[in-house]
Amino acid sequence: MSTATTSAPATATDPATTPSTRGLVEITKVRKSFGATEVLKGVSLTVEPGGVAVIVGPSGSGKSTLLRTINHLEKVDGGFISIDGNLVGYEVRGNRLHELRGKEILKQRTEIGMVFQNFNLFPHLTALENVSEAPVVAQGRSKDEARRRGLELLDRVGLKDRADAYPRQLSGGQQQRVAIARALALDPKILLFDEPTSALDPELVNEVLDVIRELAKSGTTLIIVTHEMGFARDVADTVVFMDQGQIVEQGSPEHIFTNPQEPRTRSFFSKVL
Ligand code: ADP
Ligand code: MG
Repeated sequence: MSTATTSAPATATDPATTPSTRGLVEITKVRKSFGATEVLKGVSLTVEPGGVAVIVGPSGSGKSTLLRTINHLEKVDGGFISIDGNLVGYEVRGNRLHELRGKEILKQRTEIGMVFQNFNLFPHLTALENVSEAPVVAQGRSKDEARRRGLELLDRVGLKDRADAYPRQLSGGQQQRVAIARALALDPKILLFDEPTSALDPELVNEVLDVIRELAKSGTTLIIVTHEMGFARDVADTVVFMDQGQIVEQGSPEHIFTNPQEPRTRSFFSKVL
């Protein structure tokens, strides 16, 4: 396996940035640019084990990019992200950071579940096959075990009776619930949701939000990007308001929704609430 050896910290453009690994998720001064556009301008965020962080903010503020850096779908240009003490994209050997490549990144990614706006199910696989494939392929579990666990997870999202249905035979809400079961099947340390209900007809939104509420209650660590403000208020420990690549303000739902301090936060909520 090829690993680059670099002296730590390898990618921090800010020499004062040192990786912190305190929370279950610890994001430290993360920067990301696309071409000349800086999309994340030094974002820091801590999510405790079992915590639920909800990220809100205008379109284009960097919410999806932030989630994608956590899952290593985007490589950061500066700063660090750690999940349960492990730096995303790196392995510590001795006192040096080794950059992970290829398969090692895929392995690390299995610890981080992600649910997208457009479900992204495999169209040629049944609901149960969608849920049980990754544990076999990525974790080497037996097909029987993956199938048994897959049925349990489909039951948990209320779809045990649709195990043999193909995605095209399911409603959008059902497809998204299968996608949640699929993400859970790898026993991730954290689940990321990027606008999980934005592509759904309004009458299907609640069945998906109810499943996420149940996950939150059961102690799964969640980071959720959503425009569903009522849901955010219900489910969040911390609401994070992002604008123009920065976290402008974060705090309890009461604080952010009823008493925001920053003019940009106030202006945003005056338009969406
Ligand atoms: P949000 O999810 O808050 O709407 P995004 O993270 O999707 O915001 O996007 C933030 C900014 O980054 C936007 O200006 C977007 O156009 C830009 N952006 C996102 N992904 C890419 C990419 N792969 N290449 C170039 N620009 C991108
Ligand atoms: Mg987005």
